[in-house]
Amino acid sequence: MGKNYFQAIPIKPSYDEKLISFSSSLGDAIGKGKTIPFADNDVTYTLNLQNERIKEKNIEFDYEVYKRTNDSPLGNIFFDVEDWNDEHYESTVGFASLGVKRQVRQNDQIIYKDNLRRVFYGTVTDIISGYQPDNESHTCPNCGAVSTIAELQNGCPFCGTQYKMDDLFPKITSFYFFDQIRISKKWLMIGLPVCAVICTIAVFACAPYLSSNPLFAGEMRRINQEGAYHAVIYGLSAGLTLGALLFLLIDLAYKIAKAIVDLKRMGTAKSRERFELRMKKITPEFSYEYFKNKAISLIKMTVYSKDEGELLCYKGEPLPAEFKDIIDLNYAGTFGIMDFSEENGIISAETKSYFDVLSIKDNTVSFTQPVISATFQRRTDIPVNLNFSMTRIDCPSCARSFNPVKNKFCPGCGREYELITDDWVLVDLKMVQ
Ligand SMILES: [Zn+2]
Ligand SMILES: [Zn+2]
Repeated sequence: MGKNYFQAIPIKPSYDEKLISFSSSLGDAIGKGKTIPFADNDVTYTLNLQNERIKEKNIEFDYEVYKRTNDSPLGNIFFDVEDWNDEHYESTVGFASLGVKRQVRQNDQIIYKDNLRRVFYGTVTDIISGYQPDNESHTCPNCGAVSTIAELQNGCPFCGTQYKMDDLFPKITSFYFFDQIRISKKWLMIGLPVCAVICTIAVFACAPYLSSNPLFAGEMRRINQEGAYHAVIYGLSAGLTLGALLFLLIDLAYKIAKAIVDLKRMGTAKSRERFELRMKKITPEFSYEYFKNKAISLIKMTVYSKDEGELLCYKGEPLPAEFKDIIDLNYAGTFGIMDFSEENGIISAETKSYFDVLSIKDNTVSFTQPVISATFQRRTDIPVNLNFSMTRIDCPSCARSFNPVKNKFCPGCGREYELITDDWVLVDLKMVQ
């Protein structure tokens, strides 16, 4: 069920704890390749790919997630913004005001640095109370092999690690940072002084007219009596204040104009509605928020992959070279559906969204905000498994559970596993701006 942010309620304390631990370990997972707690295997896998990309570029990436606000009076950091359920699992999206400090070093020289105000969204997936998942397959958080949950609690048959149910659930199944509407530094550095100068000139140019206007004449006379020095100070402060207001107004007008343009360029609300309606016919629990989280995860996994041709979730042309220089990729808003089509039992949906991209090329780091177009496909004859994990599948021919990310071929019958049997597959990925 969708909630708006004004209705957001504190998330369950046990989820809050896990999300805090997850988000504060994120920096070391990305930058240093450390294990991240409470993440499901798909998330861990993507973080590993990102860390490998960073190592491959011969840089040090310092990534620090920090709290931007004090804890709420209720003692939590995360708020519940969205939930969806299926038969056995429930997913909750938690939201918190977290900032990210990033620093890229090469040969002990800082070559890039930023500190962005961001909000964090993390999806926590838990077992619906009362459901006994003992015989469900689960990926061992330590070795990645697939066993049943009961087996993992008695000790993974492959690596021997024993888990409590708390170690396995709830777990974080996806996350993204989202930039709050912010004024870019460049625009601030140029726009604000320009506005201030224009307004200050205007104030001084208007001063003689104000003196002759009965409304302001008294005030102007008082200022002039205090001496020329004070008159200049008053003029300057009025100019600067008006300049700041003008700057904010222009900024707002620009954002409104951009939002209107985006509506057309990034897919209309109507196409999104049609898509949602179609998907709900296949799976009544389908939600747009689920799909957005899924899409962002698959895009990240594909972008960070060493060889996308080897990936289970990608079935497209080789990626353009620019994708191979990306060291950090964040969703930056407007997840829109351009259009979707159906053919031979396969639905294809083209999505467009902004991404914040940090790339390194020729020892130079650049920050860009391109629009990324991604086309996803899936079957229409089977319901969407909202908790599908590509690291834990049941072989369609012999039903054996295994982790096809490690090896696409089923250890039971040898058949090659195709992700589109069960889940969404990315078939086209490009930057369009
Ligand atoms: Zn294991
Ligand atoms: Zn098999």
